[in-house]
Amino acid sequence: SANPLLSIEGLTASVDEKTILHNVSLNVAAGETHVLMGPNGAGKSTLGHLVMGDPVYTVNDGRIVFDGQDITELTTDKRSRAGLFLSFQAPVEIPGVPLSSFLRASIAGRPGLEMKGKEFRRRVKELAAELNMDTAYLNRELGVGFSGGEKKKVEMLQLLLLQPKLAILDELLRLDVDALSTVSHGMDAYRKSCDGSMLIITHNTRILEHLDVDRVHVMVKGHIVREDDASLIPWIDKNGFETFEREAAEQRAQAESAAAEQQA
Ligand code: ADP
Ligand code: MG
Repeated sequence: SANPLLSIEGLTASVDEKTILHNVSLNVAAGETHVLMGPNGAGKSTLGHLVMGDPVYTVNDGRIVFDGQDITELTTDKRSRAGLFLSFQAPVEIPGVPLSSFLRASIAGRPGLEMKGKEFRRRVKELAAELNMDTAYLNRELGVGFSGGEKKKVEMLQLLLLQPKLAILDELLRLDVDALSTVSHGMDAYRKSCDGSMLIITHNTRILEHLDVDRVHVMVKGHIVREDDASLIPWIDKNGFETFEREAAEQRAQAESAAAEQQA
């Protein structure tokens, strides 16, 4: 679309002098659900972290525009306040901090989200019930001793509480059936409650089965090698990423031999 919510423009990025993303462009319009797929090590999580502003990664070229604002140089906190959300592959543990305090802190100072204590407790209880989550968790230390499924519930709770404009959800698939249903339910509730956009990062397609996907992006070795509509998902299910990997290798070989010829 002409005016996307998220616009990643020619992003080249590295860590420790090693280039991980090469000239990556990707647009997500408001209200759309996109999927970023690709084999392990392709750079999918790196892209998610870059959009969120993880200082580990260096942007060498290109820019990231969100909601009309160039956010390439913004801190993670400012991006979060602008309406971005990233669920982590490995969520944090913060001993001594109860989950409810963490949630309360995460909405503090946000326009439209600040609530009185009583209202906050009611809202969080409501959302916990919606996610089929025991309210006893709210008093537990953040992340400490939480199972993978419980951590996902916490993330979905945070998602529903914050109602970001764009949620980047990374690798939701290492989940058991219960957690999978929590996440599916959370994503659905999120979309319905605020018509939010999603960028779902995955190398597996099971979670996508019940989802209305607008666009699929395939990443191989730090390059976006294909973009298509949701029909690409069953195709990948059947054929995997080998075709894309082979094409990418062929293109690299061609580029290298062209460069060698030019030098000769
Ligand atoms: P994916 O999520 O597609 O599996 P990643 O983005 O996690 O891929 O990783 C892409 C490549 O970048 C891998 O080779 C990985 O080792 C490397 N990489 C990612 N983050 C770091 C980091 N913080 N330090 C060093 N290498 C990294
Ligand atoms: Mg990853």
